[in-house]
Amino acid sequence: MTSKSKVVRVGNVLIGGENAISVQSMTKTDTRDSSSTIDEILRLEDAGCEIIRVAVPDMEASESLKNIKKAVHIPVVADIHFDPRLAIESIKNGVDKIRLNPSNIKDKEWIKAIASLGKERHVAIRVGANLGSFNNRPDNIEQALVDSAIDEVRLLEEVDFEDIVVSIKTSDVLMTVLANEHLSKLTNYPIHLGITEAGPLEDSLIKSSVGIGKLLLEGIGDTIRFSITGDPVFEVRAGFTLLKSLGLRRKGLEVISCPVCGRTEIDVLGMVNRVKETFQNVKRPMKVAVMGCVVNGPGEAADADVGIAGGKNSGVIFRKGKIVRVVHGQNLLGALMEEINNFLEKNNDN
Ligand code: SF4
Repeated sequence: MTSKSKVVRVGNVLIGGENAISVQSMTKTDTRDSSSTIDEILRLEDAGCEIIRVAVPDMEASESLKNIKKAVHIPVVADIHFDPRLAIESIKNGVDKIRLNPSNIKDKEWIKAIASLGKERHVAIRVGANLGSFNNRPDNIEQALVDSAIDEVRLLEEVDFEDIVVSIKTSDVLMTVLANEHLSKLTNYPIHLGITEAGPLEDSLIKSSVGIGKLLLEGIGDTIRFSITGDPVFEVRAGFTLLKSLGLRRKGLEVISCPVCGRTEIDVLGMVNRVKETFQNVKRPMKVAVMGCVVNGPGEAADADVGIAGGKNSGVIFRKGKIVRVVHGQNLLGALMEEINNFLEKNNDN
């Protein structure tokens, strides 16, 4: 299902072609406060974030990029609006990619200057169009968004700059989907997907999954970001959950758990929460099932690496649908954790 776009290098990550669809996030800290920004990026790295974008609203923020780059291990993208000098300084300060919003920098010579320096320093550029690209709302908004992005791409190509990633994001799911479908027919540069200003956790999870998921299923998109009003760690977790649910990435913990009903014999939610807390940052692919009873237990979760199904004051532990242990009494959670650790030990992860 991966698209056949051109491959663009962003630091140590390759975007596009047959490469894995990467998961991005954006810091919520003041970039001028490099210490807090570094802490947040390191937390996001632990969660699996593969590319991080930081806002660069002024020269002090651009200067701070030097410290940030020294301390983090994933590519850093400088988000630039209006002032082209911030893009130039950010490139000089070592960022791996610049995000420009078409029409926020009107002077074409400045765009070309940014691209020329980017080319010299092997820094990629994301052309990121959104509704902020227009002073007045055009009649055919999807077309206008595509035109705006493509015009900027052509400008970069005029100075032989081709390390380009393109994105069109709006807070409207259908508009974003239509615009990206159209965009994908006009360019083979990698496309970054997201629904922007998608709201707090629940709202964003639904809007982003529908919008990004639909496009990914059509083979459109090479990198994604969930935009969530809240802790950016959720953006990363949500991104991987979506990719795993579409079979596009196999990485880390995936939980299968039943919704609970009148037959439930164990504390399903309590166990799921403990499993997620404990094993959230595991790197290898691992499916863990927590089922409330044996009616649909091992059968429904047959492909789980480790699972538990509740019984009356007891539970059965299963692996790949086969019961391997019957646990009596209260310590069902302890038994499940032990089996997960055994699985990880055997499969070289912790
Ligand atoms: S697995 Fe059992 S407890 Fe859970 S929802 Fe299904 S029938 Fe109910």
